Amino acid sequence: MEINELLIPTILGGICVAISVYGLAIAKDRKYALGGLFLYSLIPISHRTGIFLENPEDYFGTNVSGTFNVLQASRDAGVSKFIYTASSSCYGLPDKFPTSELARIQPQYPYALTKWLGEELALHWAKVYQMPVVSLRLFNVYGPRSRTSGTYGAVFGVFLAQKLAGQPFTVVGDGSQTRDFTYVSDVVDAFIVSANSNATEEIFNIGSGATVSIKVIENPLSSLIHQTTESYQRPIPHQSLPG
Ligand code: UDP
Repeated sequence: MEINELLIPTILGGICVAISVYGLAIAKDRKYALGGLFLYSLIPISHRTGIFLENPEDYFGTNVSGTFNVLQASRDAGVSKFIYTASSSCYGLPDKFPTSELARIQPQYPYALTKWLGEELALHWAKVYQMPVVSLRLFNVYGPRSRTSGTYGAVFGVFLAQKLAGQPFTVVGDGSQTRDFTYVSDVVDAFIVSANSNATEEIFNIGSGATVSIKVIENPLSSLIHQTTESYQRPIPHQSLPG
């Protein structure tokens, strides 16, 4: 199967922008039908460039309706495996680290909710249409080609851009908040292993298993003369939201 066979009906079906597609469908012959798109998907575009809380319809359109479109196109194409790029944001602020797949689902904002709804769709399609589906919940992916623009760019890319521009790091609060940072090539490995496995209707957390504070990730990026902006607040602060 050619990539276009799957991609074209997907775009016609109404997904907002091709690079917002975050499902990796695998053709019958085990070629990665949407491989190019899946690389973009590791840091979901809609989360990183959009306004965080406003315009929830964009998240819904891409993450829910878009997923629906990709699932339907994948069904029509008879893919042998559909891998959904889910988000650890479905756990909100979890109590336990490392966080289990069985942890309570408590999305804290519309983006997180719509990512989880997309996952539910994919797993439902697996059950009803017998389409092999695996969902990978990614924890804070970082590495080469991290997005370096946008107020809500992932912190690694934001700090990297600030370093390159000689600007102080915009550390939110005291930087003691922690995240599980996952290197991008480990995420790629997880996709490949999942693609080649017989697993279906399964959810896997993809993280390093270690929690690291924002202060600590500053260090490899910083130099002796680099500064930190203390008490930085991102726009549209909301106390109940993670960082
Ligand atoms: N963060 C920060 N400065 C920034 C951007 C992010 O200190 O300029 C912090 C943010 O407060 C959060 C952590 O880095 O605690 C991870 O933020 P990111 O948006 O990358 O991921 P998420 O909060 O969705 O896990």
